[in-house]
Amino acid sequence: MEGVLVTCEAQASLEGECVRCLEPIDDDVDVRFQELFLYDDQGATEGYDPEDDDGVSMLEDDLLDLEPLLRDAVVLALPFQPLCEEDCPGLCVECGARLADDPDHTHEAPIDPRWAGLTELQHDED
Ligand SMILES: [Zn+2]
Ligand SMILES: [Zn+2]
Repeated sequence: MEGVLVTCEAQASLEGECVRCLEPIDDDVDVRFQELFLYDDQGATEGYDPEDDDGVSMLEDDLLDLEPLLRDAVVLALPFQPLCEEDCPGLCVECGARLADDPDHTHEAPIDPRWAGLTELQHDED
């Protein structure tokens, strides 16, 4: 009986935007974690200082502070690069239209005359 073992399950709602097309994303994330909270009067005096060790959670006056644990768990569960869909095609580099809404989107318009010389170069190589 060195402390209290806490098993926590939580669901958080996410709001963000797709890294490719900036479409708003609403999602949920489920997190689970387990943590042993040591009784303050025992563990703190035995060899380690809780201030020095982030890995140790202590009971504070019989209260559990779940917030830092929950925050860490949620942050770890967040997608590194959130996407609206796994294969989001992103935005048109020319006009910024969202390609998922308009996959056949093309630009027939003549290329900026300042770049026209470059297209000729490209054709020569073909
Ligand atoms: Zn997207
Ligand atoms: Zn476009």
